[in-house]
Amino acid sequence: MKKVSLLGSTGSIGRQTLEVVEALGYEAVVLTANRNVELLEAQCRKFRPRLAVCMDADAARTLKLRLADTGVKVLSGMEGLIEAAVWDGADTVLTAVMGMVGLRPTLAALKKGRRVALANKETLVCAGELVMEAADKYGGELLPVDSEHSAIFQSLQGCKSRGEVKRLILTASGGPFFGKKREELETVTVKDALKHPNWSMGAKITVDSATMMNKGLEIIEAMRLYRMPLDKISVVIHRESIIHSLVEYCDNAILAQLGTADMRLPIQYALTWPERVPGPATLLDLFSCPSLTFAPPDEENFPCLALAKRAAGEGGTATAILNGANEAAVAEFLEGRIGFMDIPRMVEKAMEKVPVLQKPALEDILAADEAARRVAIGE
Ligand code: NDP
Ligand code: MG
Repeated sequence: MKKVSLLGSTGSIGRQTLEVVEALGYEAVVLTANRNVELLEAQCRKFRPRLAVCMDADAARTLKLRLADTGVKVLSGMEGLIEAAVWDGADTVLTAVMGMVGLRPTLAALKKGRRVALANKETLVCAGELVMEAADKYGGELLPVDSEHSAIFQSLQGCKSRGEVKRLILTASGGPFFGKKREELETVTVKDALKHPNWSMGAKITVDSATMMNKGLEIIEAMRLYRMPLDKISVVIHRESIIHSLVEYCDNAILAQLGTADMRLPIQYALTWPERVPGPATLLDLFSCPSLTFAPPDEENFPCLALAKRAAGEGGTATAILNGANEAAVAEFLEGRIGFMDIPRMVEKAMEKVPVLQKPALEDILAADEAARRVAIGE
């Protein structure tokens, strides 16, 4: 029976991970949240982890009182999150927290040589080189949970040499605003942006999908995970979200992974790899599957994609600046304080104003993130 430490258990990925854990008869030995005490308490009563962590100190105090009868240890803050990531009794740490707050816990787990199943793409975007170096140096493993990267990982199984790979092709649904022009995008609302056509996800990534920043972050994630240069990664709009991504080989074979839009499959594969076992993900019925369509992305009306590629090309702290500014801008948009097209404007401003440092250490990345957030929201 595998033991999983789950960071971000109250979120969209976290809840689906617990469904997989339950279906496979695994054990959730650590659960964490930010402030959702209600749900974290219910999860703790059901899964009986050894440790529960709330990032927020007040929430942790409340949780501790509520779990007093259970023997579950309760911690808080970044220290608690790091303790969760390096918990001795876990075989795999699945990190599904939202945002670059996942960086230090992921680094800590990899430095202990742990297997990390990573949903938290912001970590690789901000500090991909540091994270991959830590994995190499200390023997840690990094397995993708993001559906596109899992599809690529699955399509790379059996590939003996990365030199055989010509190109990685990331599929993108295009989000709720596919086909719209800049002028129309100026006036879309938060409610419109949260209506994703195919996937049900947390609010931040749903907005990222609407701006296409999500695909930009995923290009950077793929560069790091698969050590591929920017010019060998393409994006194709595939509205149906049936093909989850593809690998083009040197002999012109293209391998892909198909399935329903069900995150439980990539979550499960990251937990069971290199094996496959029966699980709860919904099977794709080929006879009721829609026709598959493909179109080029529109970087003119969706400038976030171009900004992400620019940051990927610059390297160093540029991607941390991109990500920090985007996290700040999306939070402002969700609060109703800025318009949808202010998101790319704020990201671009931060990219222009915050100096880029090459070969950054962790402190440089944390400083770049903070500066980018400040500049983006105009403090
Ligand atoms: P949600 O917003 O649904 O959940 C986020 C989780 O992280 C919650 O448990 C939340 O706790 C916790 N959290 C939020 N902020 C903090 C913080 N500052 N410190 C500690 N914990 C925090 O997000 P998703 O599940 O949608 O996404 C999680 C990650 O997975 C993101 O990086 C996203 O890009 C990635 N991802 C998600 C996919 C999806 O289908 N949802 C697909 C592919 C990748 P609380 O509930 O208390 O706020
Ligand atoms: Mg994805």
